[in-house]
Amino acid sequence: MSRSHRTTNHEPDTAVELNPLFSWPGESTLFPRFTIPDGKSLPSTAYQVVHDEAMLDGNSRLNLATFVGTWMEPEASKLYAETFDKNMIDKDEYPQTALIETRCWRMLSDLWNAPDPAKTIGASEACMLGGLALKRRWQHSRRAAGLPTNKPNLVLSSAVQVCWEKFCNYWDVEARYVPVSMEHPTLDGHDLDRYLDENTIGVVAIMGVTYTVTYEPVDLISAALDDVQARRGLDIPIHVDGASGAMVAPFLQPGTVWDFRLPRVASINTSGHKYGLVYTGLGWVVWRDEQALPDDLIFHVSYLGGDMPTFALNFSRPGAQVLLQYYLFLRLGFAGYRSIQAASRDVALYLSGEFGAMEPFTLWSDGSDIPVFAWQLTDGHTGNWNLHHLSERLRINGWLVPAYPMPEGLGEVTVQRIVVRNGFTRDLASSFLNDLTREVAYLDALTAPMPPGGQTQAFHH
Ligand SMILES: *Cc1c(COP(=O)(O)O)cnc(C)c1O
Repeated sequence: MSRSHRTTNHEPDTAVELNPLFSWPGESTLFPRFTIPDGKSLPSTAYQVVHDEAMLDGNSRLNLATFVGTWMEPEASKLYAETFDKNMIDKDEYPQTALIETRCWRMLSDLWNAPDPAKTIGASEACMLGGLALKRRWQHSRRAAGLPTNKPNLVLSSAVQVCWEKFCNYWDVEARYVPVSMEHPTLDGHDLDRYLDENTIGVVAIMGVTYTVTYEPVDLISAALDDVQARRGLDIPIHVDGASGAMVAPFLQPGTVWDFRLPRVASINTSGHKYGLVYTGLGWVVWRDEQALPDDLIFHVSYLGGDMPTFALNFSRPGAQVLLQYYLFLRLGFAGYRSIQAASRDVALYLSGEFGAMEPFTLWSDGSDIPVFAWQLTDGHTGNWNLHHLSERLRINGWLVPAYPMPEGLGEVTVQRIVVRNGFTRDLASSFLNDLTREVAYLDALTAPMPPGGQTQAFHH
């Protein structure tokens, strides 16, 4: 979470001073800031220093902009503490964790109606893996036809999350952005045709656009691609970036057809640590079948006489989050997820209703897709303040609600958003509204413009 206005890259002192906390003879009172200390210190001293520094971060539960889980039940914390030593890659040491991982992705495949799923894990790494499989599949079919494979491109909305820019950069894939506009605020199949050619490895459809938090209509994108196939012979697969929506839509919008029910959907990723409700560090990706995940991307690790296929970018990773995901699947079941997501949506609708009724704000979304809504300042409301100023005023009360520009095509528009997550109760929401109302009244009472507004950096996740 950015606290850009408080963090400086330049730290003036070269030592961390611990007086008066530790002032007895023999206690450390000074730690060098940029070199490893020469000797040891007491565990309690080192603990206190790190604890106190971490205390200066924002309170994660008051961070209303992040999608990432910040609250779990005490049983989950207990399980976490019991299992943080498990390395996911050591399948032979921790075969039970490996089995549980398999159960989790099979449950997700079922939730997303996969006919014959292939799988794996890793947060925005999941997007990388999804993109990589698209690229490899395209390369195989081009090579088989004796055609060049040096110019792959991927077609996506200009409102994609930054992990896709990373994918294209790291894997030498040309990113073809379809700009968003007032008429087409999401990728909806309109005009898609002219971005596609024989070098297009796939189209990314987003279930839960990070900026405006609406679903892209995967069925319309798929229909547009069917039409392209009929006219031009290009068979282009879809990867659904369901980072947030893939764990919301099955529960709240079961009638929305966006998943493997569409034959063109080759793979889906979700962030277990967003509406999967686990603490940070967990992502999932599932492929519809073996063809969608070329076998030459998979490394086979043998353990206990068996064969454990793996597809991941890094080697070691914590296994504890996988166990937490499984805990939640058992603990909540379908009905539990549905009621938590519905309760979050109710809080989002309550809040967005209040925002919508306030003259200064114009809503971009109301939280009925995912429990997140975004707003802009109503055109012509005031020249005295903007959303950056409001963000700063809210921060005084502890609430972190950054303002950020919309993506290319709508870059002159600034928005703010609130992500209602498990743990953001209706009670906290009404406390927030009290603070908001007071700060808006303060800003509206200004008789002259605020100084140019706090340049909070763009916020992308
Ligand atoms: C959050 C997000 C990502 C990145 O996923 P992480 O879990 O944060 O690594 C990708 N795409 C979208 C649409 C997102 O909202």
